Amino acid sequence: MTTTDTTPSDAGPIAERERFDSLDPATGAVVGTHPVHSAADVDRAVARARIASDTWADLDFDGRAPKLAAWKALITSRADELAELVRAETGKPTGDAMLEIVLAVDHLAWATKHAPKVLKRRSVNPGLLMSNMGATLEYLPFGVIGVIGPWNYPVFTPMGSIAYALAAGNAVVFKPSEHTPGVGEWLGRTAAEAMGIPGLLEVVTGFGETGGALVQAGVDKVAFTGSTATGKKIMAAASETLTPVLIECGGKDAMLVDADADLDAAADAAAWGGMSNAGQTCVGVERVYVHTDVYDEFVDKVVAEASAVEAGSGDQADIGPITMPSQLEVIRGHIHDALARGGRALVGGEDAVDDRYARPTVLVDVPEDSVAVTDETFGPTLTIARVRDMDEAVEKANASRYGLGSTVYSGERGPELARRLRSGMTAVNSVISFAGIPSLPFGGVGDSGFGRIHGPDGLREFTRPKAVARQRMKAPLTLTTFHRGS
Ligand code: NAD
Repeated sequence: MTTTDTTPSDAGPIAERERFDSLDPATGAVVGTHPVHSAADVDRAVARARIASDTWADLDFDGRAPKLAAWKALITSRADELAELVRAETGKPTGDAMLEIVLAVDHLAWATKHAPKVLKRRSVNPGLLMSNMGATLEYLPFGVIGVIGPWNYPVFTPMGSIAYALAAGNAVVFKPSEHTPGVGEWLGRTAAEAMGIPGLLEVVTGFGETGGALVQAGVDKVAFTGSTATGKKIMAAASETLTPVLIECGGKDAMLVDADADLDAAADAAAWGGMSNAGQTCVGVERVYVHTDVYDEFVDKVVAEASAVEAGSGDQADIGPITMPSQLEVIRGHIHDALARGGRALVGGEDAVDDRYARPTVLVDVPEDSVAVTDETFGPTLTIARVRDMDEAVEKANASRYGLGSTVYSGERGPELARRLRSGMTAVNSVISFAGIPSLPFGGVGDSGFGRIHGPDGLREFTRPKAVARQRMKAPLTLTTFHRGS
């Protein structure tokens, strides 16, 4: 694949700099070589973005829209090239890579189209007591947003922040995951080519230290997507300068299956939701709670579905390797703990995890305090538990410290059960809806983080509301008359 030399232009010669490789997780082959950007590099990138942010904000919505549309068109026309880079750096099948690109450009289009309506200046009724005032509310761009992203959906996930931040009038400095730096740089290059404003989307590469430097570099807001542990560190670091943060972290999504659910559809959804992208999905299904009346039938169906899932490196495979090698130990450890504590593997087991791949594992009879139930596994592993009724299902689903997404399969009670689940998003009789609905907010509660990307809320996250009130005519009521009580 490519070797990419996109160090910030005035950041010094590459030969003198520390570099790192991104690797194809299926083969271990080097995909690209990238600079480890220092704190000084990051400061320079933020300075360039600061200059670009003034130009960008001055363009207003009408001037920005054609440029964002040009970027969308360029990504679309070169989607094959980007999908191949995503495949190489993450190991996922090319079809899955293409799907995340399609979703990402859909969000870019939605943010571009709706930013003027959502963020435009509007008159606000100041209320009876202040009826002599005229008031307006406007959503102004912050300036420069620092976006720090993960590797599991290296196009779609950061685009959930980048597209909305740009559409709201900000410049962005993006730090992609150390596992997918080539994808990040590709986005930066095409943004510059299509939009023609140097610094508008700066990309800095490296490890956690580079991300840490971005948090400290004087950006106006940090939008982080990644693990809960890193989210906490970023929040602590940002607190020193009171830099606002948007924190999107991991999950331990539960699925509820009611007695009157369509069991074929529910089993399909559990297998797809749990195994697709090799389980490396923040809103992947990890725990399933099934009404006792349909438990046995449901489990048989999931076992059949999961047993048919093929892991491998080619595009014929359903799932690819585990992108981040250290995650293999986490997955194996969760399975080991579940089995050691009385759980049973109906599909897979510890042997399903080797030094590149995790094959599907379906666990039953797992204690609720096992790490396979309490912690994010981020692998193609499902725990299925029997519950006596849906109250018990809701109680167990809500016992998690996470609360990102959740799913309900039910004939009648879907919407009611959905409202009772403690999570940012709940899908009823579907598992794939939220990534593909740009108009709805996406985000979690508890250890899954806070703030919302996507939709109108996602646009407003990248603005500061500006309130202006003016007196319409000379006020009859003054401070002195007020005090005299007349
Ligand atoms: P991670 O936390 O290890 O890394 C994420 C990013 O943070 C990387 O770019 C990394 O270099 C950077 N980073 C690491 N330490 C840092 C520090 N101290 N300061 C600043 N930046 C730092 O996460 P990951 O392994 O890349 O991603 C997987 C996690 O992301 C999973 O938990 C998954 O659920 C979560 N995720 C959440 C969402 C969501 O929308 N909620 C979407 C995708 C992934």
